[in-house]
This record gives sequence, C-alpha cells and structure tokens, in this order.
Amino acid sequence: MNGIVVVGAGQAGFQLGASLRENGYAGPVTLVGDEPGLPYGRPPLSKAYMLGKTDAAGLSLRPEAYFAEHRLSVRGGERAAAIDRAGRRLLLASGETLPYDHLVLAAGARNRPLPVPGADLPGVHQLRTLAEADALKAALAGATSVAVVGAGFIGLEFAAVCAQAGMPVTVIEGLDRPLARAVSADMAALIEASHVAAGVRFLFGSAVSRIVGPERARAVALADGREVAADLVLVGIGVIPNDALAASAGLRVENGVAVDAMLATEDPAISAIGDCASFPSPHADGARVRIESVQNAVDGARCLAARLAGRPAAFAAVPWFWSDQGPLKLQIAGLSGPQDQAVRRDAPGAGVSVFRYRDGRLASVESLNRPADHMIARRLLQAGRGLTPDQAADPGFDLKALAL
Ligand code: FAD
Repeated sequence: MNGIVVVGAGQAGFQLGASLRENGYAGPVTLVGDEPGLPYGRPPLSKAYMLGKTDAAGLSLRPEAYFAEHRLSVRGGERAAAIDRAGRRLLLASGETLPYDHLVLAAGARNRPLPVPGADLPGVHQLRTLAEADALKAALAGATSVAVVGAGFIGLEFAAVCAQAGMPVTVIEGLDRPLARAVSADMAALIEASHVAAGVRFLFGSAVSRIVGPERARAVALADGREVAADLVLVGIGVIPNDALAASAGLRVENGVAVDAMLATEDPAISAIGDCASFPSPHADGARVRIESVQNAVDGARCLAARLAGRPAAFAAVPWFWSDQGPLKLQIAGLSGPQDQAVRRDAPGAGVSVFRYRDGRLASVESLNRPADHMIARRLLQAGRGLTPDQAADPGFDLKALAL
C-alpha cells in the first residue's frame, strides 16, 4: 500500500491528514510541503503575530507529537516537481519519487506580483508565509511611513496593525472602495470609515506606476503623477492559485485545479482542495468558484477525507470567512456577487449586518461586530431557510427563532 500523498502541508493538507485518521484511514499519509517546519495557520500573520501578541509556536496547527502519534509524515522543505500519472508517482525536486494510491493537491496560492518597475526593491514586501511575515514585522519596526497597495483583506488588516502602532499608513487602491469584490458597498463604507477614524489614509481610483528607489523603496509613484512617501510598501493585490503541477500533468485547470462536486479531478487517483482548487458550488447556483479561506480548506479536506475513507459526499458546506481589522470583526457567510441586493440590519452600538439577496433568495450575510447574526446566517444558509428582505431589515424580527 502506497497510501495518500499530499502536495502542500498548509491548512488544507494538514486537515486532510487529521481527518483521514479521524475517519479511520490506517494507510500511510505523507504531506510534502515546500516551507520549512510543521503546518501552521496563516490568519494570525497579518493580525496577532504582526502585533507581537502571539509567537511562531502559537501559529502551529498541532504540536510535533501529534504528527508522530497520528502517523502523519511531514516532509517540510521539499518541493513537488511533477506528477507521473501513469506510474502514480510524485516526483520531488530533490529527485526522489513518492508512489501514491491517491494524490491530493493542496498547494495553496502565491502572491500576485505587482507588475511595475521597482517592485523588487528592498522595502517592498508581500505577505503569505511566516518567513514573509517575519521580514515585514522587522521592516515595520524600523519604518517611518507605510504604503499598502491594495485595499483587500491582507492590506486592510496590515493597515490596521500600522494604525494601532501609530505608524502613518496610506492604502492605495485602484477601485473606488475597499474590499470591492468581497463585500457590499454599504459594508465597504462602514469599514473605510472605521479605518479613517483610526488614522488610515486611503487613495482610491489610484493606479501605481512604479516604486521609487533607487537603492530601496522611498515612495510609491501613482499614474496621475502623485507620489506617496513610504519606506515600507506592502503589496496585497491578491493571489494566484498554485495549479502548475496539475496543468503540466495534463489535468484541467480553470482558475485553479478544476475538480467536481466531490473534489475529484478527471484522474480518479487525484483530488484537489483549498486555495488551489476550483469547484462547482451549490452556494453559487452551481457555478465554479475558488475560495481562499480557512473554512474552505478545512471543510474541503474533511469532505475529501470522508470520501477517501469510503463515505463519499458532495462538498456543500456553507462558505464562511472572517477578517479582524483593529476594532472590526468582519464575518461573511455565503457567497455574493456585486449585483446582489443589500439589506441592512443594525441597532445602535450592536454592530451591523448586511443581508445580500440574489433573485429574492438569501445569498450571503456580512456582519460587522455582530457575531450572533453570523452564526444564525450560517444556519439559515445551510438549511436553505427563507428570510425575506423585510424580515432581515426589521430589528424586532427574531432571527434566532427562525434558525432553530
Ligand atoms: P496554504 O495554507 O497556503 O498551504 C499550501 C502549502 O503548499 C504552502 O505551504 C505552499 O508553500 C505549499 N506548496 C505549494 N506548491 C508546492 C509544491 N510544489 N511542493 C510542495 N509544497 C508546495 N482565511 C480566513 O478564513 N480568515 C482569515 O482571517 C485569514 N487571514 C489570512 C491572513 C494571511 C496573511 C494569509 C496569507 C491568509 C489568510 N487567510 C485567512 C487565508 C487562509 O490562510 C488560506 O485560505 C488557507 O491557508 C488555505 O489553505 P491551503 O492549504 O489551501 O493553502
């Protein structure tokens, strides 16, 4: 028995191993990860870890003993280089080959590079890995002013850290608001206002033309001629799925490794999960989605582990996500598009939720400092239970009773 080999020892790869054992799978499980060390969680990198509130040990998904006890072999610092599908073998960059009964691609995603001159100057950072977080944290300690390129989750979380540290920070965004692809305009306005109140400066509708050097970053030049002085630049303009291994093995790639509702590729011996995979989601009317979140990595891994242990089921978990930005806790349940109707529900001092409707059906709920609504939303969406826009907007309507 060759067992299960996993490319990627991140959130999804780790969870797959853990869930295989929970499901009683007894064969060998090997996680091949190109980062050094044991699997760790990324969310704190832009939050508690950056603020010095947790250390590297606090990021670990499990202590070392867990891996030995559960017979999960982690090959840290090893890169998978190719898949020999006919021979059912994974080829490592070291030259070694690992035979498999089933191969799981859980290779995550990598930072999208900023395509302008100067983007490779010292002082320009990105944030995906622990090593990048360490470099960014050290740079922040010696910086005098910061520019963040991109008002997405990572950019805003880091901007909040800067503001909390009393560091001048400017967020430069090409679109007209923060999180434009992720949340409603109402929610974006609330988030922007909170950051501005904390001292963050935003430049919207601004394209970056280059990073000004010459030896190291000094400023960010914009297409309209303005310059934003900064000796630390964080580029947070999204990620690219790590699907090259699949593509070069002849597997279908469509915004990530294309898998079906069971998370299987067209090769019955290869599946894909987490940030690197795109799959048809019942929460997007069957459209193919690729989701970058801990929930998607964890629930996808659980679903696949159950199938590999003999209990197949389609991946149908409600997507959910969180982002902590200074005093803000944003939580999103479900999936929404820019056209979805937005219905606001709030009460003074008790946070705000925005309920999003598509074709009259509840599609997602964005909650800001309103965690009870988020939990209820997850239950409503999982059960497919109806909530009318009028009910959502009525602060007197008992959401909890409906979700029970
Ligand atoms: P990863 O965790 O990225 O793991 C993939 C691993 O595979 C990586 O170690 C990669 O180096 C490795 N790999 C790639 N190619 C190869 C190869 N050829 N050979 C060997 N190894 C390879 N999500 C939330 O829900 N909430 C949050 O608040 C949140 N905050 C975040 C903050 C930061 C700074 C970042 C970077 C992400 C955050 N996320 C958050 C997203 C979340 O961490 C990811 O969605 C999750 O890690 C995806 O898990 P994964 O296993 O698919 O990918």
